[in-house]
Amino acid sequence: MTFSSVNPATGTKIQAYSEPDPPAVAGAIGEAHEAWTAWRQTSFAQRATVLRAAAQVLRSRKAELSHLMATEMGKPVTQGEGEVEKCAWACEHFAEHAERYLAPDVIDDRSSVVFQPLGVVLAVMPWNFPLWQVFRFAAPALMAGNAGLLKHASNVPGCALAIEDVLRTAGVPEGAFRTLLIGGARVKEVIEHPLVRAVTLTGSTPAGRSVAALAGSVVKKTVLELGGSDAYVVLEDAELDRAVEICVAARLVNAGQSCIAAKRFVVVEPLVKEFTERFVARMKDKRVGDPLRDDTEVGPLARHDLRDALHAQVTASIEKGARLAVGGELPEGPGAFYPPTVLVEVKSGMPAYDEELFGPVAAIVTAREENDAIRIANDTVYGLGAAVFTRDLDRGARVAARLEAGCVCVNAQVVSDPRLPFGGVKQSGYGRELGSYGIREFVNVKAIVVTRSSEAQPPPPPPPSE
Ligand code: NAP
Repeated sequence: MTFSSVNPATGTKIQAYSEPDPPAVAGAIGEAHEAWTAWRQTSFAQRATVLRAAAQVLRSRKAELSHLMATEMGKPVTQGEGEVEKCAWACEHFAEHAERYLAPDVIDDRSSVVFQPLGVVLAVMPWNFPLWQVFRFAAPALMAGNAGLLKHASNVPGCALAIEDVLRTAGVPEGAFRTLLIGGARVKEVIEHPLVRAVTLTGSTPAGRSVAALAGSVVKKTVLELGGSDAYVVLEDAELDRAVEICVAARLVNAGQSCIAAKRFVVVEPLVKEFTERFVARMKDKRVGDPLRDDTEVGPLARHDLRDALHAQVTASIEKGARLAVGGELPEGPGAFYPPTVLVEVKSGMPAYDEELFGPVAAIVTAREENDAIRIANDTVYGLGAAVFTRDLDRGARVAARLEAGCVCVNAQVVSDPRLPFGGVKQSGYGRELGSYGIREFVNVKAIVVTRSSEAQPPPPPPPSE
């Protein structure tokens, strides 16, 4: 079978690729395992040298890689350059800190816990941050001593091959990180291969459900980073100009195609009119256009079918009573463009409230007061990254503690950071990437108890007191 990359800004085909047949996939898995048996023996310092080289390669190819992302999935080149830089940061971060994150945990003079690599890990990845999503898996996984297989989204094959090339150029041994250009239906044969030890998936909740079920059937660990419908809660004592700036930026990042993009804006009643006026004015201001231009702020959506699905959600929300404040019309022309759009008076029962909107569409929901805002923010199947805006930092911390999400920011936009754990609760997935928590997902947490042969077996621990 073949698949093609298509430029979403023009609708033109870029290149066709053929899928490897099952023996070729099995061969790549075998080679990855073989490479792992040597890679796992290397020291942290040796792996760090390779990861630091990867950071250099990324920076030296920044223009080429951001151009590739722009043509395959529509990310404006200025944002693509930032993404490449962030990948380099992750490589350097794990090069520097992996040994400390995975240092043995000494329990007493006999017992310790060590963290050892699992082997070949499959990464099923999405197109929205085609480099960052992969590097945030690959940098810690490789530093922990694992090998990686990448099944990237079918619309970014050029990015998938470029990532493999960057890592090979940096010195990752042949086979230890391999791209498999296969469709979602072929993931089963990789998961079921005995030499594949674990799977991580970033993508939609249905894809996560399907991959986790497959992995569960052969008892393999999964990490799932799935969708979100994150709420940004704006309280009456918020610094309004700052809140509006951050909310607009958080909604439009990557043309709104980010799992942690702000999707629902829950604003308390006394502020909602003013917030909406300023928010709509800023959304109208944004320059939508050619992702290859330096001054473009919002590019096309990554595929035409994704744009059509988003428009259907907007239309259905309006039919159910939401009011369109700006945008909402399909533009003429060949690209998969969608205008920055604001829906107000959004309520439960509308797609804009109940579902994830993966594009530049903001849903403004009015809350009576703080408790009602928290209730609305938590009234979702998702729980990835939320925010709260208030001048009172103690109040911000109290509200943050009550929001059901993997991350909550007070007066700031939710962004991933190599130093901090990243992931969700509820249907947003489980497990964590990044930081010390992420690097421990794909290791064997092994307890070792050493007793000298002359010593007696240690007594069992005392029973808990009644
Ligand atoms: P998607 O359709 O779920 O695709 C993601 C990846 O999963 C692709 O590589 C896709 O392959 C593969 N895939 C899809 N269905 C599969 C199946 N049944 N079995 C095996 N693999 C399967 O998601 P998307 O449309 O590309 O991305 C948008 C979604 O991802 C949004 O919901 C977004 O919130 C979520 N996301 C989450 C995070 C996070 O960190 N939590 C980050 C980014 C995106 P093909 O391309 O070949 O179909």
